[in-house]
Amino acid sequence: MLPPDQALARLREGNTAFATAVRDGAPLPCPELAPDRLAAPQRPLAAILTCADSRVTPEWIFQQGIGDIFVVRVAGDVPAVPCVESLEFAVAQLGVQLVVVLGHTHCGAVKATLAELLEPHPEGPLAIPDTMGRIMPALARLRGERPELAGDELEHAAIHADVHETVARLCTDSDILRKAVDAGELRVLGAVYDMAAGTVAFLEAKP
Ligand SMILES: [Zn+2]
Repeated sequence: MLPPDQALARLREGNTAFATAVRDGAPLPCPELAPDRLAAPQRPLAAILTCADSRVTPEWIFQQGIGDIFVVRVAGDVPAVPCVESLEFAVAQLGVQLVVVLGHTHCGAVKATLAELLEPHPEGPLAIPDTMGRIMPALARLRGERPELAGDELEHAAIHADVHETVARLCTDSDILRKAVDAGELRVLGAVYDMAAGTVAFLEAKP
């Protein structure tokens, strides 16, 4: 299995190639298609929990081919139970040593939760209530800690808060992931994808 620092280097390298092609308007590089890998046992180098947004496509963003990354997608990249169980499978059964929680700019789920926080509907959220319930505590905390934020700055901070919260939840609520982290066999990292630029910023752990 690929150690986390090497796995991270592969993702960074892939995203650099992607973002460079986006910036230059150049044809996108396409990962080599190896027919012998299509149904070969999977040995992904990393697992990625990200949003269901159709524009957030980890295989493209990180320029990875079939079998390279184990991707779990759900609106707002929230740590819903089936998502966590999928990540646990990747770590415990496939030996993945790097989990990335990938949020993104203009995230509809985060924006909807922020709108609900700022102007709550009297009868509760009109849509995605379970998702909002998972995003809301981090945003409420952010609002309490940084009441001066508004507009784009608040949205930007909310997206980061959502990612940090999911990373924290994965590392505390999942026995499998927590034990792997404590044993030094797993790194769980947050990141934010800038949809306009094509770039991924990896986040340092929140102190
Ligand atoms: Zn989203």
